[in-house]
Amino acid sequence: MHCGATWSNDRADKLARRLPRLQPPCYDCRGPPGDLVKLIQNYVDGRFVPGKREFADVNPADGTVIAQVTEADDAQVDEAVHAARRALRGEWGRLGVRERAARLHRVADAIEKRFECFVQAEVGDTGKPVSLASKLDVPRAAANFRVFADLVKMAGLESFQTETPDGTNALNYAVRKPLGVVGVITPWNLPLLLLTWKVAPALACGNAVVVKPSEETPATTTLLAEAMQDAGIPNGVYNVVHGFGPGSAGEFLTKHPDVDAVTFTGESTTGAAIMKSVAPTVKPVSFELGGKNAAVVFADCNFEEAVNGLAEAVFLNTGQVCLCTERIYVERKIFSAFVEALKQKAESLHSGWPNDAKTDLGPLISAQHREKVLSYYRLAREEGATVVTGGGVPKLGDNRDNGFYVQPTIYTGLPESARCVKEEIFGPVCHITPFDSEEEAIAMANDTKYGLAASIWTGNLKRGHRVAHQMNVGITWVNCWFLRDLRTPFGGAGISGIGREGGMHSLNFYSELNNVCIRL
Ligand code: NAD
Repeated sequence: MHCGATWSNDRADKLARRLPRLQPPCYDCRGPPGDLVKLIQNYVDGRFVPGKREFADVNPADGTVIAQVTEADDAQVDEAVHAARRALRGEWGRLGVRERAARLHRVADAIEKRFECFVQAEVGDTGKPVSLASKLDVPRAAANFRVFADLVKMAGLESFQTETPDGTNALNYAVRKPLGVVGVITPWNLPLLLLTWKVAPALACGNAVVVKPSEETPATTTLLAEAMQDAGIPNGVYNVVHGFGPGSAGEFLTKHPDVDAVTFTGESTTGAAIMKSVAPTVKPVSFELGGKNAAVVFADCNFEEAVNGLAEAVFLNTGQVCLCTERIYVERKIFSAFVEALKQKAESLHSGWPNDAKTDLGPLISAQHREKVLSYYRLAREEGATVVTGGGVPKLGDNRDNGFYVQPTIYTGLPESARCVKEEIFGPVCHITPFDSEEEAIAMANDTKYGLAASIWTGNLKRGHRVAHQMNVGITWVNCWFLRDLRTPFGGAGISGIGREGGMHSLNFYSELNNVCIRL
């Protein structure tokens, strides 16, 4: 399995091997050790603070409540935004780039020091397999801080010498300044990875942040506050407000007049709601939204590599990765063999307890999300699909039956116009369609409002390039999936997003560039 980070895999692997398994969460923000149901609080101006209302944090593996979470009201969101503004005027605002970068490396160190706490907090909230959290989510969080700390030190800006009308010269050069207070809103599928993907470049550029994690996964965002404290990040630079979207902390944050920019990852419809909410105060937005990603498998591919790669692309994190493949187009000559091979892969996956090292598939995130995925399983049948495998709920024979597991599922036989082929399901499911020509495959892959990612599987390198260039998406993989170099642009076309993150693209979003023009 790919780690998803290119710069710290070895280190993360060594850490994952050295650390013991099954430690209880050990972080202070959950109250005294030994409490069965802990309280996850807001984090404002360097302090964990309770609120007036609480909601439950549920373990999706067995449906038990593992913590209560403090919901921030509008006054607490306001306090967090003001704390962030004060931090910009204090020590944080005066730090040079080198010192900021050094502190971000210390945040990465602090994450690695608490590696197992982060893993267990992420596993408890999401139900994802411990192997995935240890190899992907937590190492990538540390890598995000290291990459942006190093990049910001090297980031240059253009300068131009310009002739003036009277024949003299002027020198133009740009300076990079922070945007100010950035509102960060994150989803539940890769909570820590996607949070740090935004917070690291925002802090690298000198901003202060107020973060609203998903109501489903509050733990690691809160735990990161302790890593920030360990690393000497001044109070008010990193604030956390918990709650929901509309009429709650999410909306209070996006509407706040003193928030200078909003960075959001989540559903396309939520992105549309946030656009409305930021419109009156004209805030810049960076949006990473949904997808209905296609894979195109040519008969000349390395068959085994394609089957293994796409099994991962469909089922990783129980299909709850924005980059997961839900549509597979296979050249007719190998269609039946491919469907049979992917079926065998799906049926070999083990839906275990998250902390079992042998588990491949965890539960879905919530009862509500499971109902959504199951409604598509029912719809596929109504639309006339052939069920190759799955399509229901597994019987697991213990408390996992109170959790939110579904079977990995493969369909064939639907027309391209079917809702199950058009709409994002966000579960362990795909539909496979045969094709006869390259042009037909490209047309079907591009026939979507989304435009996040695609993968192409072929032994013909020229074809790989040719088809990749025609994909209307932000990322195209050829003979691989989910390989990421964090310096490269990441984002979506169509309703899959606005803007690009990654490398300099992130640094440019989180900076205000001021062009200085000097007459020489
Ligand atoms: P979601 O849009 O329901 O929620 C995301 C966050 O937005 C949560 O914190 C939620 O509380 C908040 N929110 C909801 N309504 C809001 C509002 N009106 N104002 C402010 N905040 C609001 O998404 P989700 O269900 O948590 O995540 C799954 C979705 O995220 C899928 O569509 C998936 O494709 C997408 N996603 C995209 C990427 C990417 O990089 N493109 C990555 C991961 C997930």
